Amino acid sequence: MTPPLSKNSASNSHEANHHDKAAWSSQSSSELYGVEKWANEFFSISDEGDMQVHLQDGDSEQAVSLPEIVQGARDRGLEMPLLLRFPDLLTARIKKINEAFHEAIHDCDYRGHYRGVYPIKVNQQQQVIEEVTEFGRHYHYGLEAGSKPELLTALAYMHDPKAYIICNGYKDKEFIDLALRGQMLGLQIVLVIEMPGELDLILQRAALMNLRPLLGVRVKLCTCNDSHWSHSSGENSVFGLTPNQVLDVVDKLRSSEMLDCLQLMHYHQGSQVPDIRAIREAAVEATRIYCELSKEGAAMGLLDIGGGLGIDYDGTRSKSSSSRNYGIREYAADIVDVIKTVCDEANEPHPNIISESGRAIAAYYSVLIFNILDINQSNSHLREIETIEPNSHNYLSKLESVIHDLNDDNAQECYNDAVYYRSELLSLFHHGNVSLRERAQSDRLFHRILAQLREKIDQLDDLPDDLIELTQKKRDVYYGNFSLFQSLPDTWAIDQLFPVMPIHRLDEQPTNEAIIADITCDCDGRIDKFLINGEQQNALPVHYPKDGQDYMLGVFLVGAYQETLGDLHNLMGDTNVVSIGSQNGRIKYQRELSGDSVADVLSYVEYDPKHVFERFLRLAERSVEDGKISAQERKKIIDEYRESIAGYTYFES
Ligand SMILES: *Cc1c(COP(=O)(O)O)cnc(C)c1O
Repeated sequence: MTPPLSKNSASNSHEANHHDKAAWSSQSSSELYGVEKWANEFFSISDEGDMQVHLQDGDSEQAVSLPEIVQGARDRGLEMPLLLRFPDLLTARIKKINEAFHEAIHDCDYRGHYRGVYPIKVNQQQQVIEEVTEFGRHYHYGLEAGSKPELLTALAYMHDPKAYIICNGYKDKEFIDLALRGQMLGLQIVLVIEMPGELDLILQRAALMNLRPLLGVRVKLCTCNDSHWSHSSGENSVFGLTPNQVLDVVDKLRSSEMLDCLQLMHYHQGSQVPDIRAIREAAVEATRIYCELSKEGAAMGLLDIGGGLGIDYDGTRSKSSSSRNYGIREYAADIVDVIKTVCDEANEPHPNIISESGRAIAAYYSVLIFNILDINQSNSHLREIETIEPNSHNYLSKLESVIHDLNDDNAQECYNDAVYYRSELLSLFHHGNVSLRERAQSDRLFHRILAQLREKIDQLDDLPDDLIELTQKKRDVYYGNFSLFQSLPDTWAIDQLFPVMPIHRLDEQPTNEAIIADITCDCDGRIDKFLINGEQQNALPVHYPKDGQDYMLGVFLVGAYQETLGDLHNLMGDTNVVSIGSQNGRIKYQRELSGDSVADVLSYVEYDPKHVFERFLRLAERSVEDGKISAQERKKIIDEYRESIAGYTYFES
């Protein structure tokens, strides 16, 4: 199947325009958008061209159409933008990581077990924590807390005495007391020392409660990795203790006869580590330190390898920053293998392994769906025939004659002429010698010349440098009903690539190419990098919306970090959310959360919505006094204002 877009061959895209439409199928779309590569078998395209999600329905699997889910949500009053959550996918990932480690442990006769913990910061929504603790119970899957509020949450939801609660992050007296209280209540809470000063405080508080605390140390490793977050590991990391500081902790514990309290060693390589070699190297260094701590006389028994297990957002299975060159089973097998090998060499017992994978657990969980509100068509004017008004500037006629002169041999020359006349016309405009209408016409003519050149270029073998750029088609802008800053902050902050694609009409060939702009007024609020046919492209193949029908796009794999890091840019608030399952072959709408209203968002930034309303009321009343509007008109205007303040921050249809 010929794709509509291909970076290096203009002929491909040209050919695609003439492609037999009937030959396009859902499978063609699946290849184009790389669905099989990134979807991890959770998502696919139905023969009818709908994106679908694969959910558990009793004991069998059920494919559920995303457009159908969206329609059902709208019928229930939940408009787009809409965040869909799939608890089944969260369960599947928890199961996957636990099984991967259990398998690896079994395969190499490892004599410790695996106990994962979920880092709350990755997606701390109540529903997520509730589901993680519920589904994870079978595996004694615990929680990682990096702050006081997170620990308070963990204490409310994690009551399994066999699971761990790992406390990372900076700790004050209150944080430490909370952890110790949890220990008194029978939970396995490990206080991980991140800073040299923390130990004294912990010992002091524990003595007051007459408790022997469960302690861990976070170490800085030398081994670096080249992920975006590499600064959270390595010698220059702001977190963790150097070997010197670790030994100080050991010495202090020894002199207080508390070395038996030190049971865990922790390291964290940073998120989304793309390269398995870096993971192995860090594990070797960490296990070496672990063995040394054991030889020093610390109780040990727990090795916590942190997070970092990556997600293949772009489907390339490579070391690119939006991918990783390994899978979850390889990860588990390598970790277990390294720890076993190093411990065996040092004659140390195998520790129980804790991992703090967040992204790898939560990413598949959520999908953002939004509708296209409008399109800015870059080439719409090309269809119209131009007539040059008789009294127009004669450069306009010259520009037009370039169109007629263009043939196979003079592409470069025509291009040069077009650029020349257009820039002359622009400078004439600046001097007041050309009208705005003439200037606009020169733009249209110029773009028509470019379009014709592009077609010619498609047939040329030998392209002059100047013209290569022209092979890039001009892209339309599709305006999506969402805020990048609220819903996809990492697109903006760290250039993260998420899979983006239409969720319906996928049995039709997409004949257009677009970038996606959001509805904030920020020019950074756009998505202009996509992975198409396995290559990074600057336009997304899309369909032209049909009259009277919403055109809907989905952004996938947004379950980790996005909900939490989102902000209120342009006062766009949280989207509507609905949780979806499948029961007896029917879509089950499990939990609906209405997004922020305008009043909610205003109160976040310290307005009192009532006061805001009263201020507007004053303006309206003044207009009645001044005779600009009637009292009845005032009522109507006021009612509309009140309704808007109570409404959704996004476009409502
Ligand atoms: C953020 C964080 C994690 C989670 O990392 P992922 O890459 O999402 O798995 C784990 N541990 C610590 C200490 C963290 O700060």
